[in-house]
Amino acid sequence: RAKQLLHNSFQFFDAAITDVSIERLQIENLLRRAIERHELLLYYQPKVDRTGQLVGLEALLRWQHPELGMVSPARFIPIAEETGLIVPIGRWVLREVARQVTQWWRDGLKVVPVAVNVSVIQFTQADFAQTVADTVAQTALPFSWLELELTESMLMGQIDDLRRQLGELRQLGVTLAIDDFGTGYSSLSYLHRLPINVLKIDRSFVARLDQDDAGVERSLITTIITLGHHLGVQIVAEGVETAGQRQILFDAGCDVFQGYHISRPLPAGVVRGWLEQNAGTG
Ligand code: C2E
Ligand code: MG
Ligand code: MG
Ligand code: MG
Repeated sequence: RAKQLLHNSFQFFDAAITDVSIERLQIENLLRRAIERHELLLYYQPKVDRTGQLVGLEALLRWQHPELGMVSPARFIPIAEETGLIVPIGRWVLREVARQVTQWWRDGLKVVPVAVNVSVIQFTQADFAQTVADTVAQTALPFSWLELELTESMLMGQIDDLRRQLGELRQLGVTLAIDDFGTGYSSLSYLHRLPINVLKIDRSFVARLDQDDAGVERSLITTIITLGHHLGVQIVAEGVETAGQRQILFDAGCDVFQGYHISRPLPAGVVRGWLEQNAGTG
């Protein structure tokens, strides 16, 4: 009987694995065609400075599939990375952002820098920096409109010429940011060895800030901001959801704020309203 039970549970286990694999395979196959079928689109999330003025946007990838509906990046980016599909997808994102920013500029809007998330897999392409350079050069805009968001783990990893590629991008005038800062196992010490301009504090830290027992988190945030400023980097807080969190971050000296409290990620047509208002006040 015990044997039978064991057998059954293995069968169950197998079935569960197979389900997950089939789902992955399905997503992979559908994702392969997503670009040519025009199913990918970008949302843009505003970032504001200490006075509340719009100072930047972050491009966030969306996949609108006719049957699956809106697929979250958390679900398809890992698959895109494992299959290498992130390389053509990443190129599409860059081209689309360049096209959109150029359009806004042609329409007479005041353009703010747009941040694009990049995967470590993209940096393993020896010509990644060159691809970025070519894409931006095809626009009439300066390189300073573009910001790239990298993750901490990328900097700790073993990409031989990461430093060269970051140097090239920085030389061109592209802004470099570290995303989700504080979630990796790194220290602030590598920051002065790499040409990084911006630190984005992960939203898991921000989320706890306005709780009563968040004394340690608050000290930690203040330390990160102070140290970051000493190293000459700008501090952005991501995932700011409440006025309380924003105030605590403000008091700690944070430079830029992003999150649902300021605005959710918006379709290009809606974020246009932010840019129009920006032209009026700036
Ligand atoms: P991320 O770059 O850290 O982006 C922030 C994520 O938090 C976004 O999720 C955003 O919609 C969400 N968010 C923003 N404000 C708030 C808030 O106040 N509260 C909460 N709970 N969430 C907030 P999203 O759009 O689902 O993207 C998830 C991740 O997928 C991104 O994390 C990024 O790592 C990756 N990703 C998105 N677009 C791209 C892309 O074009 N290329 C690559 N390689 N990765 C991308
Ligand atoms: Mg990001
Ligand atoms: Mg982030
Ligand atoms: Mg994040």
